Amino acid sequence: MTIASRYQPLFEPLRLGPVTAPNRFYQVPHCTGMGHALPRTLAAMRGMKAAGGWGVVCTEYCSIHPSSDDQPHPFAALWDDGDVANLAAMADQVHAHGALAGVELWHGGSFVANLASRVPTIGVRSMPSREEPVQSQRMDRSDIRAFRRWHRAAVERARQAGFDIVYVYPTHGYLLSEFLSRSLNDRRDEYGGSLENRARLFRELLEETKEAVGDRCAIAVRFSADGHGEEHLSSDEAHDVVGMLGELPDLWDLVVGDYYGEEMATSRFVREGSLLERVAQVKKLTRKPVVSVGRFTSPDTMVAQIRSGTLDLIGAARPSIADPFLPSKIRDGRLEEIRECIGCNVCYAYNYRGAAIRCTQNPTIGEEWRRGWHPEHVPKGTGGSVLVVGAGPAGLEAAHILGKRGYEVTLAEASQEPGGRVTLESRLPGLAEWARVRDYRLTQLRAMPRVSMYLGNRLSAADVREFGAQHVLIATGARWRRSGLGRWHARAIEDLPAAAVLTPDDIMQGARPTGRVVIFDDDRYYMAAVIAVLLATGGAQVTYVTTGGQAAEWSHYTGEQERTQQQLLGLGIEIVTSASVEAFDGDAVTLGCIYSGARRRHAAATLILVTSREPQDELYRELVGSEDEEPPRGIQRIGDCHQPALIAHAVYAGHQAARELDAIAEPDRGRDRSVIQNR
Ligand code: ADP
Ligand code: SF4
Repeated sequence: MTIASRYQPLFEPLRLGPVTAPNRFYQVPHCTGMGHALPRTLAAMRGMKAAGGWGVVCTEYCSIHPSSDDQPHPFAALWDDGDVANLAAMADQVHAHGALAGVELWHGGSFVANLASRVPTIGVRSMPSREEPVQSQRMDRSDIRAFRRWHRAAVERARQAGFDIVYVYPTHGYLLSEFLSRSLNDRRDEYGGSLENRARLFRELLEETKEAVGDRCAIAVRFSADGHGEEHLSSDEAHDVVGMLGELPDLWDLVVGDYYGEEMATSRFVREGSLLERVAQVKKLTRKPVVSVGRFTSPDTMVAQIRSGTLDLIGAARPSIADPFLPSKIRDGRLEEIRECIGCNVCYAYNYRGAAIRCTQNPTIGEEWRRGWHPEHVPKGTGGSVLVVGAGPAGLEAAHILGKRGYEVTLAEASQEPGGRVTLESRLPGLAEWARVRDYRLTQLRAMPRVSMYLGNRLSAADVREFGAQHVLIATGARWRRSGLGRWHARAIEDLPAAAVLTPDDIMQGARPTGRVVIFDDDRYYMAAVIAVLLATGGAQVTYVTTGGQAAEWSHYTGEQERTQQQLLGLGIEIVTSASVEAFDGDAVTLGCIYSGARRRHAAATLILVTSREPQDELYRELVGSEDEEPPRGIQRIGDCHQPALIAHAVYAGHQAARELDAIAEPDRGRDRSVIQNR
């Protein structure tokens, strides 16, 4: 079977009510950190997905009215004509490539706090918002009528903006889910009580949306195949809802109730295609097409879902972020060029932080408008030779992009294997998929005759000078500090017994302490927690101490915090929060409460310090001279040896340096903002 025939089912058009999807690749609604505030950035990013072959491209959650305002989290909006114009720009860019544009109309109900609009929030009953000390106002009949009017008006604006698919969204804990919920909906009117009553508002919106869009748009419903948690809506009830309303929408976009724990979970905790079984059960209940996600990156898995009839469309958020051109690559049989998502949720984390989307695998996402970056094309360079020192994510990405631009690239790596921290970290529990960052780039490099990689080559400054390349990129990474320096300790912890103190680098090089181990986490992301898992599984008696208020605090933003804490507790690891390690004598650590300063001793034979990293920039310093001197042209440092940060930052730095070498850079258009027209 040829590749073209093997994957042909993925390229069959599909009718969705009055519109037709050109193929089975469906970018489901996903957050971008752009929302209504960065319209050009957003339009260019979504347009790029369509250019890459996604047959349907949707917005993120799109508020219908100022009573649903999720500030500070960036959300799309269709409140007024300005929003219509901005989202029309997105729809236009999607249409330019023959794809359909979808909009996920959304009302947050009690979940939001309306920090920007300052309108009282509304809910099925008065409830606290997710994050703020405010409660919603219980909706009376006139509020329900108003809500229906707002929804309908937003549907009309969506149609005006040119959308082909309009969502009704009774899921993920937002307003319509409150009405569906057994436990939250305590109403005694026709909107409460029986399942039919609880689903009434949802049904009304479906019917009114249909009326408003006529034959112009398809209606999609994003719905949880297993309800949203037994206490709210059991899976039997969810199935009953589909049984009752199954034929009303033109498309069911199925998810599962546990958003953070499963649907949006990282590869540390959940594998590709984990939702399929539950989705398949619901698929049987409707004749309408079904789309669902599962972090699908394997074309074989995708086509198997279509062939078996489990799915009609392959839904993707993260795989479309990591590779906007995934569908075209499958169509053209360029499977080895697919940049597979690693399931790290860095994309989601920065949305949570209010910053435009970024991705560990795809450094160009979010930069399509501002920098004019294309995920597949780079401008030709002026030629010449480049020496890249260090084959971690920064060095690999730089060599890859420089090779594409036509430079003669030599990549020198001290160790016997490429990948730097990615290779080492991917061997830690749950992080195996992270090796894709290395593997994608190695595969591309191997096909480039002008790029040579030399392993087992630790270069000195004399080697670099002797090599005589026109450009030198130093990508030598960073080391974990052995002193305890970090957020908490501004100075080294004194008198540490060197033999009993380890860092993550030691663990990644194979050190396996047993007995009583204390891990001090002042980094607060994943590293200390995965080391705790590794050592506890190996039989050590682990105490995890963090200056944070919970284990792996920052991983709240990647949606991993809860599962991490559960995992540590499940392994019998003692968790000590809001504490620092103040001293260690080889027999015990001295713990200090970060609030009261109260101290206590805790027995430990080994202390593992996960605090901060030291840039490994000695080679760079030797080459450029002292910190006071202007660095010579032609030498720059990139990635962790410049600024220790996430792998995503290193890839981005490598990409930017390579793209902008010789200063043939695309224009940086600055900030995306609307300009005040009349003063
Ligand atoms: P980054 O995340 O910035 O890419 P990493 O720490 O992952 O950084 O990778 C840095 C790589 O550089 C490591 O694989 C390391 O072995 C390599 N390296 C460090 N110093 C030298 C050197 N002097 N010559 C060649 N390779 C080096
Ligand atoms: Fe996938 Fe990570 Fe990129 Fe998100 S940031 S798309 S999870 S690789």
